[in-house]
Amino acid sequence: MRALVLNGPYDFSYEDRPDPVCPPDHVMVRVEAVCICGSDIHAIQGHQPLFTFPRVIGHEVAGTVYKRGRDVTDLAVGDRVCLMPCIPCGTCRACRKGRTNACSSLELYGVHRDGGLQEYLAAPAVNWLKIPGIPKAEAVSMLEPLTIGAHAVAKLDLQPGDRVLVVGAGPIGMSCAVNARTYGAQVVLADSNPQRRAFCQDTFHLPALDPFRPDYLQTLRQITDGDLFDGVVDTTAAKASMETDWKWICQGGRIVFVGICSGTLEVDGLSFHMREPGLMVTRNSTRRDFERVLEYWRLGFLDPEQFITHTVPFEQAAQALGQWIKPETGVFKGVVQFPV
Ligand SMILES: [Zn+2]
Ligand SMILES: [Zn+2]
Repeated sequence: MRALVLNGPYDFSYEDRPDPVCPPDHVMVRVEAVCICGSDIHAIQGHQPLFTFPRVIGHEVAGTVYKRGRDVTDLAVGDRVCLMPCIPCGTCRACRKGRTNACSSLELYGVHRDGGLQEYLAAPAVNWLKIPGIPKAEAVSMLEPLTIGAHAVAKLDLQPGDRVLVVGAGPIGMSCAVNARTYGAQVVLADSNPQRRAFCQDTFHLPALDPFRPDYLQTLRQITDGDLFDGVVDTTAAKASMETDWKWICQGGRIVFVGICSGTLEVDGLSFHMREPGLMVTRNSTRRDFERVLEYWRLGFLDPEQFITHTVPFEQAAQALGQWIKPETGVFKGVVQFPV
């Protein structure tokens, strides 16, 4: 089979490899679509911590079951499936409590082990979610990033009519926004990039504000009847943004950090305390998040295809991924398509 290997920063090569073996508890999938993530871009650029070369990247993967191990009963050859890329240890305290996404020795396909940019991928049956019906493979490959938003927003404990501010209108910010909307929340986004704001408004019909405008706080108050937000979700990974999120929540509101900031964060202790905020952090997602996103997609509350702006055939992916890194290409989400 053909595999696209990332040998080092900006250094891709196509290799012919033997087809993967399929142990009794595994399912071998013919890969059909791989959606490219911000973390893939960081890996290509060589600034993804925990990443080792050479690696086949791609953790947002859709395909069709090609072969199943003899112990697998819940998936059949021909089923359309989506990869759930987390590989938890299954025995640590987090795993035993069902929080497999926060496993103390978590690995991911496409990061610690070879991922989707190859013609076939074998993984344990528990890592594949069956997608009923015949949706487009490209849309299915977009489910994983939608589960990141689902997992983050679940921490807000939203009620219909609650107000949510999502800071950062990139793909993960939009994922959080559309998931918050499924709870009946009123959602507003903030992003300093005018193209992102326009995309958000035109495609998702959600208001997006410029956080650097001097009247930002005043506008936030105006659109929330003076109360500010029940939930603030920060996807920027930017220190300055994350240190000021408490300013946008109502009394007793909740903050969720999705973007990872590697520096030290400081907040004004007294002002922060007086709002009695909940501060939470989110990592990855679980099977429950996949099932929720799938359900709300089927009900028509969210549409993975809205995120996809670019596609490229697998044989041209090495070249295209080098281009998609550049912001001027205007890629929101790009998908690598495999010949059917
Ligand atoms: Zn991702
Ligand atoms: Zn574990």
